Amino acid sequence: MLRAAYLAAYPHGFTGRDHGDFAPPSSAPARLLATLALPGPYAAASQVHGNRLASVPFEAEVPEADAVLTRLPGSCVAVRVADCVPILLAAPGAVAAVHAGWRGTAADIVRHAVQALGAGEGLRAAIGPCIRGCCYEVGEEVIDRVAAVAPGRAWLSARHVDLAVANAAILAELGVATEIVGPCTRCDPQYWSHRRDGASAGRQVGAIGLPP
Ligand SMILES: [Zn+2]
Repeated sequence: MLRAAYLAAYPHGFTGRDHGDFAPPSSAPARLLATLALPGPYAAASQVHGNRLASVPFEAEVPEADAVLTRLPGSCVAVRVADCVPILLAAPGAVAAVHAGWRGTAADIVRHAVQALGAGEGLRAAIGPCIRGCCYEVGEEVIDRVAAVAPGRAWLSARHVDLAVANAAILAELGVATEIVGPCTRCDPQYWSHRRDGASAGRQVGAIGLPP
């Protein structure tokens, strides 16, 4: 189980293949809560590669959103990924989980989530295992759209984009200390990878809870 030192004060973690496939939304709760030693209740949204954020408790049963936020003590939030970037955010009294592929990154989802949490000195972030620059060669459109939101060029090498570094650059611009943990999901067979395994790839989870 991967955990970030930056988020040590919060129950959280990133799963790998060893922990099972969390693709079906309904498959997660009990097993995930036990695996990650998270409090309950658990909330995850239906991810659509956009920039909408849902807050617990949900108005709709399972909203379409790519970031989930809770301020409810003893609850936890999660995103499911298989190459896309899982980002966990924590501020005093609030936590969020963000799903950022290139579309979500370009739609500035992490900035939306930080603004919803309320920017402040106590805000911290961890970016979990995802496809990294080594394995993520993309077209001109993706580079241009990420460049529109991510400062600098540290996330770009030739036509290879590193979305973990791009999101960390956006977070740095917002004044949020960010830790990147874990390997490239396409390089490391211990993680599900959509680019490597295709449509049959399972999903790993990034989840974070607020202590009861
Ligand atoms: Zn790689």
